Amino acid sequence: MSKTINLIPLLSPSLGSERSLKVIRWSGGDGPVTYLQAALHADEWGGIHCLHYLEALLDSALERGELLGTVIMVPVANPIGLGQHLNGYTVGRFDFDYSGNFNRNFPRLAPLAIPLLEARLGSDAEQNNRLVRETLRECLNDLSPQLEAEVLKQRLLELSLEADIVLDLHCDSEATLHLYANRRHQHTAAELAAFVGAPVLLLEESTEGAPFDDANAAPWWQLQEQFPQHAIRNGCFACTLELRGRTDIEAHLARQDAEGVFRFLQQQGVIAGTPERPQRLTEGTPLDGLDAVKAPLAGLVEYCKEVGDLIEAGERVAWIINPYADHHDNQRVPVYAKTGGLLFARRRDKMTRPGHTLAKIAGDHSLAFRKGGKLLEY
Ligand SMILES: [Zn+2]
Repeated sequence: MSKTINLIPLLSPSLGSERSLKVIRWSGGDGPVTYLQAALHADEWGGIHCLHYLEALLDSALERGELLGTVIMVPVANPIGLGQHLNGYTVGRFDFDYSGNFNRNFPRLAPLAIPLLEARLGSDAEQNNRLVRETLRECLNDLSPQLEAEVLKQRLLELSLEADIVLDLHCDSEATLHLYANRRHQHTAAELAAFVGAPVLLLEESTEGAPFDDANAAPWWQLQEQFPQHAIRNGCFACTLELRGRTDIEAHLARQDAEGVFRFLQQQGVIAGTPERPQRLTEGTPLDGLDAVKAPLAGLVEYCKEVGDLIEAGERVAWIINPYADHHDNQRVPVYAKTGGLLFARRRDKMTRPGHTLAKIAGDHSLAFRKGGKLLEY
């Protein structure tokens, strides 16, 4: 059993500068390989805090000889975004260098792997899974990204491709704990939600945006669907864990989250031990049942509901105050919920523009106006 630390250099973006990824690896037995990363959206720091405490828990587990598998940790997944400062603030969701959202458009490997695997797959599931993993890696290595952010995405995926379990740690603006996962992974995602105490699990059928979790997990079911005649087991559970809101950086929360993830890893056989089974707060709701309540106009947001409130369809969520309206009576415009459910996220910045999301409500049935596959963009 061992712990190693490596620095992986990224592409130099400009003369005289170069960034790197710190990779910590705990190697134990032949058990499952887990990959964790934080702050891919570089202005979402709760994951860095959680992994800070998880590192200590993993060190202790290693010392006690309890590591049954391998854990790979990238505590700062996006040094590019962390370097993006504007007027004193970190602006880390979109790349300043025009490659877009840092958590979209990871390489889609299944279409590249299909022609290669046609001649390679056989009838043995173990052998097929090894071949799939090797072929996905081969396809990833064959890519020639140009931009610094594209190289970052390739490096992160290189590190995570060997993992059976991939956890991508993010956070929202103001929020409760919540998770995004594919419906095919509902069971394991609901277990993770229970271990960390998350009341919301959003389940997507399939996504088109190629976020990091999907880039790891989707090739497996896409290849299963492509090759029904060959036995291929599901090789990767991946999900996005949203650790509350951006300003929820508190020691007791980070420690609690790290302990929740640690117990999940025990339950998954990565670390020895039998954790107590927690109470499940959710079995999951459809992502296309999520009502992202939009602002119809610009103005000051005065919320009527708190994060964690149960909302009924048609209830008023907020007022938008527009001082430019002629009469004082007309200055307040109500905004209503289109579905019932838990209001799990709100906007921290209370001055809105039209079309901005004011609140997210996890409804339990699909909404006709939502389009599947678009994540939160519709
Ligand atoms: Zn994020």
